[in-house]
Amino acid sequence: MAVTAQERKLLIGGEWVETGDWIDVASPYSSETVGRVAKAGRDEARRAIDAAEAAMRDPLPAHKRAEILVRVAGFLGRRHDEVARTISDEAGKPMKAARVEARRAMSTYTFAAVEARKLAGEMVPMDAAQAGEGKLGFTVRRPIGVVGAITPFNFPLNLVAHKLAPALAAGCAVVLKPASQTPLSALLLAELETEAGLPSGWLNVVVGPASELGDVLIEDDRVKAITFTGSGTVGWGLAERAPKKRVKLELGNATPVIVTADADVDAAAAAMAANAFSFAGQSCISVQRIYVEARAYERFVEGFVPRVEELRLGDPADEATDVGPVIDDDARVRILDWIEEARTNGATVLTGGEPEGQLIRPTVLADAGPQLKVNCEEVFGPVCTINAVESLDEAIELANATRYGLQAGIFTTKLATALRAARDLDFGGITVNEAPTFRSDQMPYGGVKDSGNTREGPAYAIRELTEERLVVIDV
Ligand code: NAP
Repeated sequence: MAVTAQERKLLIGGEWVETGDWIDVASPYSSETVGRVAKAGRDEARRAIDAAEAAMRDPLPAHKRAEILVRVAGFLGRRHDEVARTISDEAGKPMKAARVEARRAMSTYTFAAVEARKLAGEMVPMDAAQAGEGKLGFTVRRPIGVVGAITPFNFPLNLVAHKLAPALAAGCAVVLKPASQTPLSALLLAELETEAGLPSGWLNVVVGPASELGDVLIEDDRVKAITFTGSGTVGWGLAERAPKKRVKLELGNATPVIVTADADVDAAAAAMAANAFSFAGQSCISVQRIYVEARAYERFVEGFVPRVEELRLGDPADEATDVGPVIDDDARVRILDWIEEARTNGATVLTGGEPEGQLIRPTVLADAGPQLKVNCEEVFGPVCTINAVESLDEAIELANATRYGLQAGIFTTKLATALRAARDLDFGGITVNEAPTFRSDQMPYGGVKDSGNTREGPAYAIRELTEERLVVIDV
């Protein structure tokens, strides 16, 4: 059962603001109200941009930005239980996974602090051209300006951290719009940033109708960059509407994994069982499509399905739960429809395929065709498919056959096979002998094709949120 019931206000210009309207936040597991948040509209969004712009007129030196970031990491550690519980309550994320997310956010802030202290331009070898003789040239990295950050429900703390921490490290003030279903973790993080000494206006948080707040961020010329994590439909739509802004997109995937016959098949099966169903598959890199070489197929299924059946379904607040609810009824109905579509089009349900109360049992589908939604779209639920393939070529072709390209994985003991996959899989990241659900917060993370146009991880995000300014001195 949810244990918290919080009331949170908006953060605008250093003030905690009420508006008279509230958004209720409900547990996806029990439907109980776990909190309520003041509801923002256009006016609050404009005031938030005013405050961010005003804050940036008085830049914060790098050492102060780094100190604040380090302090936030410390607070996240000290208030770990409360932070993890808030994630779990509002997102329905099992405590096991919520604790991992809360710890990862500490890592995100720590890496951002390191990057804040290293932020520098580079020397330009001016005399490499005749015209440059007698000149000294270098670049400095300047904050791009006010950043609009929009975040999804599925990592309500750490994906917010991946927006806020690099922006502060880069010297940019932020207007954050977190997901309406999960704003509590974001507002808790805002409280921690404030307690860590962040001056007024550097972070502003507005929660409310997405298109209304989104329109203000898109239409206001003072917002120089939008950093968005969420669905492709929304993300690419924002990019189209703001050709003069930097619009950086982290979007979805239909994550494939290849298991070759030479692989440690049992280790692959264990890794897949742990990574296809964590947070009920609601991670952009949840394992969704598994392609196993025919000679290893039976062995893989024998190792995989029993492990999936051992996963514990239940209340996300229970520390023993592996798989909890999906975010809402719409998602639940859609996922069950997609399973049904696969079943009626020839797929075999190896396990699951049914609801269990309000939850969906972890579902493994064999022989689902590539045209079915469970293979060509992002399921974002506790469902994965397994197909036997005749060769590595066929596996790579099928893995590449969707519009997505975030991360993919391969299990093999042959170096040449691993390198071939790293070359030919058309994704932003390839994992070898590790599930493609793997992410460590400093690594460059992001997609190609419909999956996005940027890389996050503080060092990489900071590049996107700064501009190079050239200085040439006649010596
Ligand atoms: P979503 O529906 O696209 O929502 C994401 C954010 O966009 C929310 O804050 C939402 O606000 C906001 N939004 C919706 N319509 C908007 C508009 N017209 N203008 C401005 N903002 C708008 O995505 P989601 O369902 O929360 O998240 C799931 C998706 O995120 C999946 O596709 C997943 O793969 C992707 N994702 C990608 C990554 C990555 O790093 N690549 C990580 C996690 C998730 P409301 O909540 O108020 O509607």
